[in-house]
Amino acid sequence: MKIKWFGSQIVLNKVEHSLLTGNDFLKRKLALAKEALALDTLLIWPDRDKKNLELTQKICSDFQIKTYLWYPLLADIALFKIRPEEAVETFEGQRGYGKHGRWPQLGQGEEDFLFLCPNNEQALDKIFQHFENQLKIDDYDGVFLDRIRFPSPGNGLESLYTCFCPWCQRKFSDYYQEDLNRYRPLVKDFFQQLRVVELSDLAYYRSLSDILRPGHLQRFFDFRAQSIFQLTRRFAEEAKKRNKTVGLDLFAPSLSSLVAQDYRELATISDWLKPMVYCHTASPAGLPLEYGCLLQGLLAFNPGLNEKQLISEASRIVKAELPCSLSALLKEGVPEDIIIQEAERLKDFNLTENENRKIYIGLEAVQAGELAHIDGPVLKKYLSAVSETDLDGILLSWNLLKIPDQNLRVVGDLL
Ligand SMILES: [Zn+2]
Repeated sequence: MKIKWFGSQIVLNKVEHSLLTGNDFLKRKLALAKEALALDTLLIWPDRDKKNLELTQKICSDFQIKTYLWYPLLADIALFKIRPEEAVETFEGQRGYGKHGRWPQLGQGEEDFLFLCPNNEQALDKIFQHFENQLKIDDYDGVFLDRIRFPSPGNGLESLYTCFCPWCQRKFSDYYQEDLNRYRPLVKDFFQQLRVVELSDLAYYRSLSDILRPGHLQRFFDFRAQSIFQLTRRFAEEAKKRNKTVGLDLFAPSLSSLVAQDYRELATISDWLKPMVYCHTASPAGLPLEYGCLLQGLLAFNPGLNEKQLISEASRIVKAELPCSLSALLKEGVPEDIIIQEAERLKDFNLTENENRKIYIGLEAVQAGELAHIDGPVLKKYLSAVSETDLDGILLSWNLLKIPDQNLRVVGDLL
């Protein structure tokens, strides 16, 4: 198999130090990853307590594994807890989560997925200072920017049409000499259209995202993507100034436009991109959850739609046979060869400007209760699909502490 590069991620937040040191747990895990996969890079979500980070960096240095600061920008940030009233604003003036299609477990886990507005300069100046400090104090090879996006279908379809806050209003009017508020009734009208959407209306779509991106809102969508791009550039440039490599955590190409991630622009300011193509994850960014919530949202708008027929239409659009009910989709996931479709979509983005830029696909390899349970057969299918693409490597996600040794061995054996 031709896969040459492997990275992984680790969450040290709220992890007991003794769990890492007991029986040399972390050292053994990283030794295995190095031996089985020649692990090149570890992305680290640090803890306030430095002990875990110091230990991890020491082991990585011994094994010649590069370390990155894994830094979330707009949700689940390190600096303060985001309150619902600080989150992005919908066309109806609501903040917090949306309603139609929202993942019922949202906000109940370790992460809130409440999103700050990328144009909220006051909050982001504070976050930027914190980021600068982190880079000054701790020695990393690179930074990995995460949560550089707007809410996804899992947050409820209303939240896809954010943000209308005063910061955005000011910026929009500077850009376009147009009042952003003009778009509030346009989104409202679109939601009225969704109430009468029929299966036959979907026949010409080639992407699920396009269903939710009507042409007359194009300027609003452009503004959102620009807002994410400019924010990301600010942080990426700071990292570059300090000679750090920059990697970006991105939604799968089939969904990226919905969360305002423009691959083409983001590719120009980074060294590598990580499209998250999680086929078996029932939490935000996972395809089963995001596809499921998107379809659930459409059903909630128009209960006259037939679930089974809608999924069958969605299968045509994503070019993969999805399980025939939404509950089965969450449980069984999407077929692994959707990776090939996502790689095709990446090619359509035509990321030509920076020829050295790499694409490391994010595939989950964890066993994390109900959220994801990955085993040997799934990994085998993952690797087989990746080997049919020209992706540059694999980021085994999203937490090495929850990736069983057996999974690392399986991947190693397959190589
Ligand atoms: Zn805003």
